[in-house]
Amino acid sequence: MISNKEIAAIFNLTGEVLTLLDENPFKVRSYFAAAQSIKNYPVPLATLSEDEILKIKGIGKNLLPKVMEIIRTGDLEFLHRKAEKIPDGILELLQIKGLGPKKVKQLWQELGITSPGELLYACYENRLVDLKGFGQKTQEKIQKTLEFYFQNKHKFHYPAAFEYALEIINFLKTKYNLEQIEITGVLRRKCETVKHIDLLVCSEQEVIIENLDFSPIPVNLHYSPPEQKAFRQLITTGSQQHLEKLHLKGFEFAETEEEIYAKNHLPYIPPELRENLFEWELTKNQHPINLIEEKDIKGLVHCHTVWSDGTNTIEEMALAARDKGMEYVVITDHSKSAFYANGLSEERIIQQQKEIKRLNDKNLGIQILSGIEADILPDGSLDYDHNVLQSFDVVIASVHSVLHMDKHKATGRILKAIENPHVHIIGHISGRLLLSRLGYELDYDKIFDACIQNNVILEINANPMRLDIDWKQAGKAREKGVKFSINPDAHNAEGINHIQYGVNTARKAGITPDNVVNCLSADEFKNAIKK
Ligand SMILES: [Zn+2]
Ligand SMILES: [Zn+2]
Repeated sequence: MISNKEIAAIFNLTGEVLTLLDENPFKVRSYFAAAQSIKNYPVPLATLSEDEILKIKGIGKNLLPKVMEIIRTGDLEFLHRKAEKIPDGILELLQIKGLGPKKVKQLWQELGITSPGELLYACYENRLVDLKGFGQKTQEKIQKTLEFYFQNKHKFHYPAAFEYALEIINFLKTKYNLEQIEITGVLRRKCETVKHIDLLVCSEQEVIIENLDFSPIPVNLHYSPPEQKAFRQLITTGSQQHLEKLHLKGFEFAETEEEIYAKNHLPYIPPELRENLFEWELTKNQHPINLIEEKDIKGLVHCHTVWSDGTNTIEEMALAARDKGMEYVVITDHSKSAFYANGLSEERIIQQQKEIKRLNDKNLGIQILSGIEADILPDGSLDYDHNVLQSFDVVIASVHSVLHMDKHKATGRILKAIENPHVHIIGHISGRLLLSRLGYELDYDKIFDACIQNNVILEINANPMRLDIDWKQAGKAREKGVKFSINPDAHNAEGINHIQYGVNTARKAGITPDNVVNCLSADEFKNAIKK
């Protein structure tokens, strides 16, 4: 038997959907009012006759058939019909606490946000701060709610999973007096999203661990006697397809993973590469693989400042980059079409370049280059003319609007940007947001060829919600000879730390420092991107 609460919830959702569809406010209100009185009614409606239900406040002749339908079927056809007109992501947004249909509608209409992931990203980019009825506080609250929401949706972005893993290791070490616990599995392979945490517990005897229910991510504990640690680590790291290509019998007591690979006549294969995709080709000649490391990055490319939607000044970003060991920073605020991000007009570009010159004259201990993240318009052109584009040291071209294009159109759009003589780097090429938005499809072969022909560099956007270009495509691009720039797309000083996730992606793609332009010194970098 359906409860009053459940009936009320369906009425409530109907009211919300009608609000989103801009239906007659009186009609909308009648659904909310009915929901309210049904929820509070002391007797289950399912036990009442039609006449009795009609006497309940807020349920008139119009709504009665709907109440009866819900009691009969547990559902309301009318609601489904209306909801069909609304993107699924918007309906999902309605489920998020504290938003409500009016706010969802405003976000949809004014910022084009159609899913929780897009909204979270908008929070990270400070889009809600200046939106009427929102502001800094509301943005922070929404951001927290959404982060929680995503953590509860079975899959986790790599950094969140990694943090939880560290917490759990800490807990286990303290509570059970365990000394050796290692991260293994998907997390050790640094996959971009993670469903569960695998930990290898190294101890003489198996430990009974009561429960790890507090962990929001399921935890798999694997045990190993100390003398089999290397072997167990290799086995639990996977991937399964990688392991199937190795001879493992008889190596249970190897001292190190290196030893097991050596017995397979292979150099050590770092965990990130163990996907049965690029590792065999890379180890063909038996040389050790010199994958890129975070310390190889010398230039911070792609960051935003208070000039567009960042929260730090140019000077603050430069100093933060310097303190992280960078030799140069490329400031790339948004271009003028990105009005929602306070994109730069031609006049403000002149002012910003003056400011950069002033700061460089101060000798901050880091070189500041003038760049832009120019919008690729739907037709593939950029939103400034030649003279303006020429004034930058670095032009990153990125798609930020009209994200839903078919493969042919989207490829044509990107190709046109690559062929633009002013473009140095293509930013976050697919537009994906991990766990919430698939990118548009692209003909990557054509794009890689065009990059090589036009000396255009592909960004590995290091924001852990993007990690775009995907590592599988990045590996193919590397094989063709395309160069990369690992860019944090930082919107504040802390965002510079995201470089590590871009490095993970690069490592999974088998990328070495000589494939990456921001591993070069400032002069070499400028030279390498020259048209
Ligand atoms: Zn961007
Ligand atoms: Zn950006």
